[in-house]
Amino acid sequence: MMLQTTVHVAALGRAQGRTEALWHAVELHRPVTEIDGACELTVCGSLARVTPEESWPRTGGDVCPACDALTA
Ligand SMILES: [Zn+2]
Repeated sequence: MMLQTTVHVAALGRAQGRTEALWHAVELHRPVTEIDGACELTVCGSLARVTPEESWPRTGGDVCPACDALTA
């Protein structure tokens, strides 16, 4: 029997205009070693670079509010 757990990793999005880069959540479907540094689709639907050494959820003011709400 498989455990149905959803694992998220943190991914850093690109800064847009005057908005600084935000941390997004990416659902992990592959071993994290395979997506190290890759751009993946985030929970909120944008693209961000996966940073495996950063865990999700994150705290602080630079977290994507949509990803935060969707993974809560
Ligand atoms: Zn997001």
